[in-house]
Amino acid sequence: MLVMKFGGSSVSDAERIRRVCDIIINKYKTDKSLFVVVSAFGGITDDLIEITNLAAENNPGYLLLLDRLIERINNIISELAIPQSSTFVQEIEENQDALRNVLFGVALIQEASQKTRDYILSFGERNSAFIISRYLNTVEVSSTYIDARKYIKTDNTFGAAVVQFEQTNKNIESLRSLKSGVNMITGFIGSDMMSDRTTTLGRGGSDYTAAIFAAALNADVLEIWTDVSGVLTSDPRKVKKAYTIPEMTYSE
Ligand code: ASP
Ligand code: MG
Repeated sequence: MLVMKFGGSSVSDAERIRRVCDIIINKYKTDKSLFVVVSAFGGITDDLIEITNLAAENNPGYLLLLDRLIERINNIISELAIPQSSTFVQEIEENQDALRNVLFGVALIQEASQKTRDYILSFGERNSAFIISRYLNTVEVSSTYIDARKYIKTDNTFGAAVVQFEQTNKNIESLRSLKSGVNMITGFIGSDMMSDRTTTLGRGGSDYTAAIFAAALNADVLEIWTDVSGVLTSDPRKVKKAYTIPEMTYSE
């Protein structure tokens, strides 16, 4: 069994999403039960943080940025040419309304607790996994959208929640018997064991989500796909001479 993870920059626009799906479809030819973890579309998490901060100051500018974010997501949907079935449109609209409503609440009370922030940030991964899963359906790959909040149980340290492995592993193991297809999982998010409230695993947490799923499913391989091969000596955007480290130990 294989678990794959694609980060935000790999799914930042329709063109890149198509390329990611080509990679998935290629694997799917030989492996009919895939688990794929995705981050929010590139930049969306940062945008949601900025929008929340503005709303918490009751700065009406938050609405402009929110409209822009929703427009970006809708553009990705139309560029991917996902058929606008009534259930699909309804799901997307309900999701966008919920985001708009919670931000309106933040603006009204001029306060955003970490608990509220985690819920707001979860829109990023829930949108990307849902949309990519539906796109795969349109190119005739059977794919199920999986909201990781149902599986990854955590404590209530909102913003950097600690995974409760006993329950989490049990929940994820139940997925092993799933029918074949591409299971498209939201990275980064979980839910509080006691209250079921949305939690996040800390910035960049989607790699961790993928590792949690891979371990619980006893996967043969976890593939973390990113913009560069392997691990480089430094950020290649900043250091021209950066090169791939040929071999690394676990502690390195
Ligand atoms: N979207 C989240 C973040 O930007 C999680 C991730 O990308 O891994 O931090
Ligand atoms: Mg990342």
